[in-house]
Amino acid sequence: MNFLKTEFSAIPENEKLARQISAAFVIDLNPTVEEICDIKTAVSEAVTNCIIHGYQNNGGTVFMKMLTEKNVFEIEIEDFGVGIDNIEKAREPLYTSQPEMERSGMGFTVMESFMDYVDVISEIGSGTKVIMRKVLGENDA
Ligand code: ATP
Ligand code: MG
Repeated sequence: MNFLKTEFSAIPENEKLARQISAAFVIDLNPTVEEICDIKTAVSEAVTNCIIHGYQNNGGTVFMKMLTEKNVFEIEIEDFGVGIDNIEKAREPLYTSQPEMERSGMGFTVMESFMDYVDVISEIGSGTKVIMRKVLGENDA
């Protein structure tokens, strides 16, 4: 088992940093280029959500915890922002609370398609935690 805990300012500049940290952390598991891309994309979506929805672009701190166990990568991305009222609805493809901001409502759908497991824990006024897992090397012959 190996883990890494980080926290960073909830600003758009740190979305790229979060992607790079996740890629660097997982590299020892010998992921394929595709697996790295999948993880970076899912991390981007979750971190962006913390910044723009959780903290509504007013700053705050994003907490990112990662671990690897054998060939499994797990990541938790958490904010202590506004929280989600209806998680089931939020996870539906094309649902967005910000259509006027030209959001497509595909963030959770993207996370689900690129990762093997996605769980969302959230409470109004307390914040949101997204837990994702990916098994690496599944496509090995
Ligand atoms: P896109 O990701 O395609 O730009 P989106 O962010 O609206 O659009 P999702 O990422 O699927 O779509 O999220 C769906 C909805 O869930 C959001 O519109 C928002 O209302 C809510 N949501 C997601 N993450 C959070 C969060 N961390 N805090 C509060 N609300 C959230
Ligand atoms: Mg989103």
